[in-house]
Amino acid sequence: MKSQYVYYFGDGHAEGNAKMKEVLGGKGAGLAEMTNIGVPVPPGFTISTGVCTYFYDHGKTYPPELKQDVADNMAKVESSVGRKFGDRDKPLLVSVRSGARASMPGMMDTILNLGLNDETVQGLAASSGDERFALDSYRRFIQMYSDVVLEIDREHFEHELVAVREQAGAQSDAQIPAGALRELVATYKKLVRERLSRDFPQDVQEQLWGAIGAVFTSWNNQRAITYRKLNGIPDEWGTAVNVQSMVFGNMGDDCATGVAFTRNPSTGERKFFGEYLPNAQGEDVVAGIRTPMPITELEKSMPEAYNQLVDVYRKLEAHYRDMQDIEFTIQSRKLYLLQTRTGKRTGFAAVQIACDMVDEELITHTEAVERVEANQIVQLLAPVFDADEKAKALRGGRLLGRGLPAGPGAATGQIAFNAENAIRMAKDGPVILVRIETSPEDIAGMHSAAGILTTRGGLTSHAAVVARGMGRPCVVGAGSIKVDYQKGELRSEGHEPLEEGDWLSIDGTSGEIIGGKLATKPSEIVQVLIDGTMKAEDSEVYRNFDRMLQWADEIRTLGIRTNADTPNDARVARLFGAQGIGLCRTEHMFFADERILKVREMILARNEAGRRKALDELLPFQKGDFEGIFRELSGMPVTIRLLDPPLHEFLPHTEAQISSVAREMNWGFVELRNKVSQLHETNPMLGHRGCRLGITYPEIYEMQVRAIFQAAVEVKKDGVDVRPEVMIPLIGTVKELQLTTEMVHRVAGEVTKDAGVDVEYLVGTMIEIPRAALIADKLAATAQFFSFGTNDLTQMTFGYSRDDAGSFLPDYVDKKILPKDPFESIDQEGVGQLVRIGTERGRATNAKLKVGVCGEHGGDPDSIRFFRTCALDYVSCSPYRVPVARLAAAQAELQQKAYEG
Ligand code: ADP
Ligand code: MG
Ligand code: MG
Repeated sequence: MKSQYVYYFGDGHAEGNAKMKEVLGGKGAGLAEMTNIGVPVPPGFTISTGVCTYFYDHGKTYPPELKQDVADNMAKVESSVGRKFGDRDKPLLVSVRSGARASMPGMMDTILNLGLNDETVQGLAASSGDERFALDSYRRFIQMYSDVVLEIDREHFEHELVAVREQAGAQSDAQIPAGALRELVATYKKLVRERLSRDFPQDVQEQLWGAIGAVFTSWNNQRAITYRKLNGIPDEWGTAVNVQSMVFGNMGDDCATGVAFTRNPSTGERKFFGEYLPNAQGEDVVAGIRTPMPITELEKSMPEAYNQLVDVYRKLEAHYRDMQDIEFTIQSRKLYLLQTRTGKRTGFAAVQIACDMVDEELITHTEAVERVEANQIVQLLAPVFDADEKAKALRGGRLLGRGLPAGPGAATGQIAFNAENAIRMAKDGPVILVRIETSPEDIAGMHSAAGILTTRGGLTSHAAVVARGMGRPCVVGAGSIKVDYQKGELRSEGHEPLEEGDWLSIDGTSGEIIGGKLATKPSEIVQVLIDGTMKAEDSEVYRNFDRMLQWADEIRTLGIRTNADTPNDARVARLFGAQGIGLCRTEHMFFADERILKVREMILARNEAGRRKALDELLPFQKGDFEGIFRELSGMPVTIRLLDPPLHEFLPHTEAQISSVAREMNWGFVELRNKVSQLHETNPMLGHRGCRLGITYPEIYEMQVRAIFQAAVEVKKDGVDVRPEVMIPLIGTVKELQLTTEMVHRVAGEVTKDAGVDVEYLVGTMIEIPRAALIADKLAATAQFFSFGTNDLTQMTFGYSRDDAGSFLPDYVDKKILPKDPFESIDQEGVGQLVRIGTERGRATNAKLKVGVCGEHGGDPDSIRFFRTCALDYVSCSPYRVPVARLAAAQAELQQKAYEG
C-alpha cells in the first residue's frame, strides 16, 4: 500500500486522530482529534513525519507525489474557508507549524500569515475592512519568515519595530497606527534586500515550500538536538508539518489570543488557569514582550468567548481524561482552538492531579500510578526555605522583589546572567540563572541551574514551561527587577546592585526574590514522615504522596530495599517504604574517629596475633552498629557485605598524615611510609580487595561474621525478628565462595550455639565480576542469594574505571557511541545481559535463589524496568530514592503485564 503523506482536518472531520501521534506529530494528532469531537479548529492539513524521514534519507528531497498532495489539500482548505491561497481579492493565509511526536521547544518557530505579499495584503485590507490589521499581519509575516526561513537575525527587525513604536508614542504594538506600519513593512523589505541581495519572496508557493523545508531542516538544528538529548527523544522520530488556515486575534479589541491549562500546572489545583492578550497574535503571549492578563479578566471583557472557552476546556479534559495545555484565538468574539496537548506539570502537580482525578472518578488507581513520572516524585522531597530564616531575611530588607511563582521549590545559588556561564559555574556550586527572558538556546543553561529567574513573561512563558518540565524552582516576570547584561548587573530599587557570582535566593512557590544565601529546610513529606515535625492531616502533599505510593505497592511485584550503613539511614529508608537492606557496607563503619585507629592497628600489626588483638577491639563497635540496624528493621532482611575496599584506603597518604599516625602508633616515620608504599596498589579497583582480603586475612572476615551473629543473638533475645544475609563481595571463582561460605557457617554456628539462640540467616554473594555471572550455575550451588553489584559489573564489563571515565564518557554519549552514561542507567545490551544470564543460570541450579541488585542502578527507573524483565526479586537503592523505586517498580510491572499480554 502506498503510504499517505498528507492528512486533512476541517469541518468536523479529520483523516487522523489522537492515536496517530507517530504519523502526525503531537500537534497534528491533537488538531485532528479536536476536529473530530466538534471543537472549533481552523481547517488545515498535516504533512506526516514519514516525509521528514524520507527527506533525510533522500538528500533533503521530497517524495515525488507530495507536491500534488499538498495542492489537493490546499484546495480543500480553500473551499472550506472560501478564500484562495495567493488570491489578490480574498487571499487565504495559513500558518506553517512544526510538530514532533513529543513537544519540542527547540524546533522551528511557527510562521503565521503566510501567503501575504504586496498584492494580497491589499486584498486582506479590503476584505477585512481594516488596513491596519492587514499591515500588522504582513509585518509579522516578514519578521517571522525572515527569521526562520531566511535566517536573518530577528534582533534587526525587533530594533526597527521598537523604533517605530517609540516614534508613534505607542504603549504596545497594537497601538501602532497603519501609516507607521506601512513604513515599517517597507523598512523590513529593504532590510531583507540589503542582507540577501534579493527581494523578500512574493510568490506564495515559494513562501510555502520555503517554510515546509525550514521545518524539516530545523529537526536537526543544535537546539533541537540538545533538547532531544536532555529528554531522551530518539533522533529517528522526525517531525510533521501542519499547514493551517489563519484565524486572527489581532483584528481589533474583540479579538485575543491566549494559552491555558485546564488545571494549575505548578500546584495541580483544580482551577482553570491561563493568560491572554487582547488584539494580539500567536506567540505574543509566550514571548513575554507584553505581560499577559489572567484568564479571569477575559470573563469580564469577553463573556461570550469566555463561556465558549469554558465549555471547550471541560470537553477536552473529559475527553482526554488528563490535564490539557491549550492554545486559542478569539476572532471577532468567536473562539478557535489551535492546540491541545497533555500539559507538562511539576511533580507536585502531577501527584495532586492524579489523586484528584481518582477522586473525581475520571481515572483508576492504576492510571494514576502511570501518570506520574517516577523521577518527578523526587521534587516532593526537595527542601523548602526555612520559614524563620526567610522571615528574618524579609524583615532585614533582603526582599528584592516579587515575580510569578512558576516552578515550586526553593533555590539558593550564585547569579549567572547567561546560559554559558551558568553551565561553567554550576560545576563549582549552585547557580541561579537570571535572564530578562529565556529562549530555547538557554535550555542547557537552565538545566544546569538550581533555579531560574526572569524579569519578563508570564506563567506560560518559555522559562516557566521549561523550568516546570525540568522540575527547577522558577520565578518569572519579576518586572521590578532590572537586568543589564552589558553591565552584568541585577538592580532593584533601594538595594545595592548584584553582580554575576553574587548569591541570590528564589522561592518558586511564592515568587519571592531574596538577596543572599538562605537556609532551606526539609520538605513537608520529610517533616511528616521522618522528622515528625508536621502532622499528616496538615499536609495534603504528604497525604497524596502516601496514597500514590500505596497504589504503586498494590501493583508492583519487585521488592524495594535500600543501601544503608547506619541505623539512621535504615530508619529513613524504612519510613520511605523500604522492605529491607540490600547493601550494608561494613567498611563505612571503619572510618569513624575512634575506630580508624583500631583499623590501622589491625592493618599495621606485625603478625596474626597482633591483628587478632586489634580486631577483638573493633568487634564491639561493629556489633553495636549491626544491633542498631537489626532493631530498626525488625522482620526485614538485612544484607551485610563483608569488607570490600583494599586496606591501604584506611592508611594515611600525605607525609604529614603519615608522620602524625606514626607518632600515635609508635611507628618510625620511615617504617610507616614504607608500609604504606608496600600496600599501595597501582590499580586498586582490580587489586587486593573483597573476598581476596578474606582469603589472605581470614581473621578479618571472621571478626565481622562474629559481630553480625553476636548482634543478631543479642537483639533476638529482645524479641527482634532478625534476618541477616551475609554477602561476600568480589567472588570470581567457586572455590573463593566455598572457602568463605564455610567460614561464615562455622562462625555463625559457634556464636549461636554458645548463646543457645537460633538465627535464621542466608549466605550469598555479590555478582560484580563478569566471570561470576558466567559461572552463576556453579556459584548457586553454594550461594543462597545473588546481589548484582552493577557499579563494579559495569566497570569490569566495559573496562571503564568509574573514577576516570568522566574524561571520555560525555564524548561517547555525544557521539552516540553509547546511548547513555552506563553508570547512571544500566547498559541493557551488555551489562544487562550478564544480569540476565547470571539470574537464569543461578536459578537453573537453585530455583529458590533470591536475586537482587544493589548498584546505583537500583534507583533508576529505566534500569528498574529492565530488571523487572529479568525477573529479579528486588532492587536496592539509597534511602531518598526508595519512593522513586516504588513507583518505577509499579510502572515496570504494568509494562511487563502489557508486554506479556
Ligand atoms: P509552538 O509549537 O511554538 O507552540 P504553534 O505552532 O503552536 O507553535 O504556534 C504558536 C501560536 O501561533 C499558536 O498558539 C497560535 O496562537 C498561533 N497560531 C498558529 N497557527 C495559527 C493559525 N492558523 N491561526 C491563528 N493563530 C495561529
Ligand atoms: Mg514556539
Ligand atoms: Mg503551540
